[in-house]
Amino acid sequence: MNYIVLDLEWNQASDKHNRDFGLPFEILEIGAVKLNRKMKVVDNFDEIIKPQIYHTIHYITTKIINMDKEDLKKGRPFPEVMEDFLKWCGKDYVFCIWGTLDLTELQRNMVYYGMDELSSGPLMYFDIQKFFSMTYEDGKTRRALEWAVDYLNIDKDIPFHRAYSDAYYTAKVFKIIDDYKPEIEKYVSYDVFMVPQNKRQEVHVNFKTYSKYISREFDDKNAAIEDKAVNSTKCYLCGRNAKKLIKWFSVNGKHYFCLAYCKKHGYLKGKVRMKKADDGKVYVIKTLKLVGDDVALQIREKQDKLRLQRMEKRHLKKEREN
Ligand SMILES: [Zn+2]
Repeated sequence: MNYIVLDLEWNQASDKHNRDFGLPFEILEIGAVKLNRKMKVVDNFDEIIKPQIYHTIHYITTKIINMDKEDLKKGRPFPEVMEDFLKWCGKDYVFCIWGTLDLTELQRNMVYYGMDELSSGPLMYFDIQKFFSMTYEDGKTRRALEWAVDYLNIDKDIPFHRAYSDAYYTAKVFKIIDDYKPEIEKYVSYDVFMVPQNKRQEVHVNFKTYSKYISREFDDKNAAIEDKAVNSTKCYLCGRNAKKLIKWFSVNGKHYFCLAYCKKHGYLKGKVRMKKADDGKVYVIKTLKLVGDDVALQIREKQDKLRLQRMEKRHLKKEREN
């Protein structure tokens, strides 16, 4: 298996009126570094794409990437470059990117041009920005690539902000992390541009300190939260059904919480995030995490507060009606 460390540069509409909703971000450049199992660079990919939709470079894009019209004229159309890129990737690989955006935009560009999908469901990848944070910081902070390069004293021998150079630096950061902490590769991420269409494509993963579930699509939020797989609270350590002490409740219509108790492992905090798919339907990302008494209490307090607010609202409404 190879690692494909990938970076993209893209452009967007210069104003609202010429925005193509099928493709809000048009890819202009694909850069990648192929690493083998031993983290050795075995090949590079560096190609410019000739724009078909947005012909003026948005001022944000200009600020970010060092590219001009003359460079872009030398490019080839997206489908051609993408086909070559996929051939170059080979059969057995995992994408590694800095952050969470690139694979979504890559797939959106492919769908726009009618190309075959990269995968039929969520696409597993390594988020090197997350790995960096988990290895050197708190796991939550997200840094710019150049920040990480400075932190790790990596030579800045080529300019940043071109697809190839950013892939080049991402690969260097990844190699240092992976040499130091190879078990980091357990902390995979999933790009959900292709939402699961059936139970088979759903994602269930157990990490050391939490579990994650990505559901198939539902017509609406209620249908989702009433689904058995969505609202179940199975302990990810022992597989037992943990008893719900506080049933799922919504804070803002987007996030739902619950509190369950595993006889063997203690309190489990459940969190469901409702996500909108491109087709207007919803899917959920659920995490279950073992927590201590303090967090269990916080969930109780959160629910009490919400209950109180709702009661007050109802009361006020009644008063007004009288
Ligand atoms: Zn358990």
